[in-house]
Amino acid sequence: MSRSYEDLRKELVERLVKEGIIRSEKVARAMMRVPRELFVPEKLRDLAYMDHPLPIGWGQTISAPHMVAMMTEVLDPQPGDVVLEIGAGSGYHAAVIAEIVCSNGGHVYTIERIAPLAAFAQRNLAKAGYSHCVTVIIGDGSGGLPELAPFNRIIITAAAPSVPKVLLQQLSVGGTLVAPVGRLWEQRLIIVRRVSESEYRTEYGTYCIFVPLIGRYGWSPDVAKT
Ligand code: SAM
Repeated sequence: MSRSYEDLRKELVERLVKEGIIRSEKVARAMMRVPRELFVPEKLRDLAYMDHPLPIGWGQTISAPHMVAMMTEVLDPQPGDVVLEIGAGSGYHAAVIAEIVCSNGGHVYTIERIAPLAAFAQRNLAKAGYSHCVTVIIGDGSGGLPELAPFNRIIITAAAPSVPKVLLQQLSVGGTLVAPVGRLWEQRLIIVRRVSESEYRTEYGTYCIFVPLIGRYGWSPDVAKT
């Protein structure tokens, strides 16, 4: 008999806890609650609990669960936070963050530049029951959402050549931005904390590989063709 998605999810989360990738109760609980199988293309559902990125169409991927866990741990979202994600993709990472922030009136805004993927994310979030606290926006998110700033947390889930300064300005004091930054073929997670109006502190995390952030403050669309 094949195992239930819930059993597979529990096993994955327990493994990530054992490996020290999930360190907090809140990230473990959020990843236990969000059904990843609803965020992957239907024909790949049985692979949803492998710890791998998976294709979601248009040359893009849903990140591996360990990467979602690592980034969420360093982002450290709090109940009630208003969060901006750049790179909605499948909507899965937005749902994991929503599990943490939305209990206390928080909200997640997630931007996706590929319109059919934004629709995919929106459908997945609706199926999984997160539409009330996640808003999907179509467009180039590399410049953020100045009209809704400031944000308590900003996460970029695509590879940026550098951290766009316009995004740092949209972070509230005490807020954190997490992004994979570097060359197209390898990046490093950068964690920036805004400690005062004019002061930011930067830390460097794990090496990683993401699809490129394409847009005004990211890479040129030509990189997608190479
Ligand atoms: N967070 C996603 C998830 O949970 O499935 C995975 C994100 S995927 C690794 C990166 C996404 O960023 C892709 O869907 C890509 O189209 C999107 N992207 C790239 N550049 C962007 C930009 N400037 N604005 C918005 N989305 C962008």
